[in-house]
Amino acid sequence: MKPKAKPSATQPTLVVDSEVVRQIRQHARSSGKTEICGVLIGQDRDHRIEVAACIEGQNADEAGAHVTFTQDTWEHIYAVKDKKYPDERIVGWYHSHPGFGIFLSDHDTFIHRNFFSSPGQVAWVFDPQSDEEGCFGWVGDRIERLTRIAVVDRRGGEPAEGSGRSEPVSGEAADPVPERVIARREGARIKIGRLEADESADRDDSALERLVIQVFFYLAVLAVGFSLAYFVFPRMVLVPVMLDPRTGQLVDPRTGEVVAEPRRPDPGGAKGTASGSAAGSTSGNSGGGASGPEAGQPDPSGKKGDHAKP
Ligand SMILES: [Zn+2]
Repeated sequence: MKPKAKPSATQPTLVVDSEVVRQIRQHARSSGKTEICGVLIGQDRDHRIEVAACIEGQNADEAGAHVTFTQDTWEHIYAVKDKKYPDERIVGWYHSHPGFGIFLSDHDTFIHRNFFSSPGQVAWVFDPQSDEEGCFGWVGDRIERLTRIAVVDRRGGEPAEGSGRSEPVSGEAADPVPERVIARREGARIKIGRLEADESADRDDSALERLVIQVFFYLAVLAVGFSLAYFVFPRMVLVPVMLDPRTGQLVDPRTGEVVAEPRRPDPGGAKGTASGSAAGSTSGNSGGGASGPEAGQPDPSGKKGDHAKP
């Protein structure tokens, strides 16, 4: 089927309402891996196509891999168009390619040539998985991917100042991809005033958090260090001792055991007497029975054991 109007060797100008782009994306994402389709509604004048609305092809046969415009699809589309857009035209169609990129398959070009053969009709394709999109239109009797797509914002011209509205501060749901992360990725030099303000609040919180974590960390290290030292290093235990005045021995006052031999003073360098005094001391040791009664005191062996403990 040939284009009805005079063929043009240049691409048409395509102007799409941003709301239409949004609706197509939403429609495509709503059905995951299944292809969806619909028609574009708008005006076509002087090689300029303006897309103002779209109608979902609700009854499209989506059983196969490719969308199909069935009789039911067209009936639904015309019913909606006559009711909502009686003065507009069908300026093309859209469909999704979930996960397989932007192109027109043979099946797609068949649909375009048979149902959208006017030079003012385009084919919009959107991949909801890669977020790619593209549009194809008539150049002469060929179908080409369009180089330029103008997206217009109907609310353009609204004053930006004095809206009196503020952005949610900690609404994570409202900001699923934090812009500051993107800004950081793209370079530290990117600075956005609002984000700076947000970040200073964040910085205070995270600084406090870091301080608390550091304190707990140091405490934990200290505790580990002390317990290690307790088990690894030998300990010095202070034991009260009594000096037996007769024997010169150091005696544990609780158990009466001899803790240490006396340090014998060297009497005048006479070795013989030294040995004699040594003998005396041994005899004294036996006479150390004086401390015997003390030793004989009922002493719980537990104490002894406690003492013997390292
Ligand atoms: Zn396709």
